[in-house]
Amino acid sequence: MGQLSVYLSFDEPIGNFWIDTGLVVLLRQFGEGEHSVERVREWLVSQLVQPSGNKGKYYDQNSGQFREYDKVNWIYPANIFIKVSGSAPKIDVEIEGKKEKVFTSPPTFDLSLKFSKRPGKCDFCGDQALLAEAKMWMYPFVVDPDKFGTFYSGTKRALRLCARCALAGMAGYLGWLWKAQGNEALHFFIFHSEPREMKRLQEEVLEPLRLKGDRSGTAPVAFAGPYTHETVWGLLLKLFTHVRNSDLLSEEARDLLASLLGAGKGGPPPAPITLYAVTGKPGQAFSMRALREFSKLQHLYRLYESWEKIIAEKNINKNPHQHIIQIFEQFWAQQGQNRETILRDKIAHAILEFLDPSPFVEQFLFDARAKEENPRPLVRGTLEILGKYLQEVFGMDEQFQRILAGFGYSLGSAAREHEEVGLLYALRNAKNPEDFYRVLNDIQFRLEITVPEVLLRIEKGERIAGVPWVRVKSLLSIYAMNAYLRKTTPQSGVQTKEA
Ligand SMILES: [Zn+2]
Repeated sequence: MGQLSVYLSFDEPIGNFWIDTGLVVLLRQFGEGEHSVERVREWLVSQLVQPSGNKGKYYDQNSGQFREYDKVNWIYPANIFIKVSGSAPKIDVEIEGKKEKVFTSPPTFDLSLKFSKRPGKCDFCGDQALLAEAKMWMYPFVVDPDKFGTFYSGTKRALRLCARCALAGMAGYLGWLWKAQGNEALHFFIFHSEPREMKRLQEEVLEPLRLKGDRSGTAPVAFAGPYTHETVWGLLLKLFTHVRNSDLLSEEARDLLASLLGAGKGGPPPAPITLYAVTGKPGQAFSMRALREFSKLQHLYRLYESWEKIIAEKNINKNPHQHIIQIFEQFWAQQGQNRETILRDKIAHAILEFLDPSPFVEQFLFDARAKEENPRPLVRGTLEILGKYLQEVFGMDEQFQRILAGFGYSLGSAAREHEEVGLLYALRNAKNPEDFYRVLNDIQFRLEITVPEVLLRIEKGERIAGVPWVRVKSLLSIYAMNAYLRKTTPQSGVQTKEA
């Protein structure tokens, strides 16, 4: 049995992000070639088990006394999935007149793999090999993201795996990044690409950036919350800040990251990377809420670079990276003791999927910011970034944006002067073009400002200047309410955080 060996190679990924991640972990440790299954398994257990910080007692039969030992457990958060407890022989001992079962040595934690005598087909890679029966819970994410719905139905049957897939599956726990949000949410991040690229990504980029000794996780994030998309976005923004300048990454590592994000200095384009994010609720067991795949990281990075340029060009902040983070970080609202970040999640979701975030920015301004005790406008640069995004993703005309911004500013300022915030809400609440024009008419009359002509021409498909009317309405509401709030806020104290 101990003679069984496993062949590890960079050239044979199986295509599943969990198994391949583990395969890369094993390749980093052992290199390509033939390895003893037992040796690999022992190493994995040694990496997955650690002192828990608690003490236990066992009964030493030689001396007839209890002795203390340091308890160990599966490392967090792998222990939520690996449901095998430590074991040791037990005997009955009389303690204060009562019989109790006690360990006779410190319990050991182990993951055994028992292989069949005859070869069969591996459930993952399809190879003909001796197979180990493995419980599904050991391999939490070995599921096709598209078939997420059927995940739990598969849990009853044990998987039959070849030695390579079984070991790589265990090693998957060592290749993820994670972030915990108290008892609310636990996020896992797994990058997947061609194995050689993944090895370099893990070694050169993720390892130096991985947080150590932080009980809330290993994922470096610009911000995080209980929802998937905001936290994915927080992670990507953090990665993006290290591409051009980094106190943690070497120049080679930065070049690698740049090339993986499609911003390399030339040479053959690398295999694209995909980011898998799994969110669930921690507890006795892990309750999975979402498993998502993000593959357009290169496109996102290009957007990020265009924002960086704007922040620098407009002298908004000397540190554009930090400023972009501040812009996205701001979308939370105080609710009792908690920060509610659902709108930040929706904005992040829109950006990650190249959808329109403006309705959520609008909602944030009107329903969260405007209702605060001391309402503040958006962080400077937010509107510039939103505008750039709409230009890049939806081809919105820059000139038209300027007209909207200018008119929105006059409208918000006039609403402030005349104390007519109701008009802004009426604008925000417009449900159709007729409504929209009725409110504009009201605005013209009550605030005595002129509506730009371009807004008055509605085209086929309910578009204005080529833009769906509802986006025009949202943008105008955003510009106007932001100007309104800017005029509300006393000048001191506003700029301090952004300076
Ligand atoms: Zn296999």
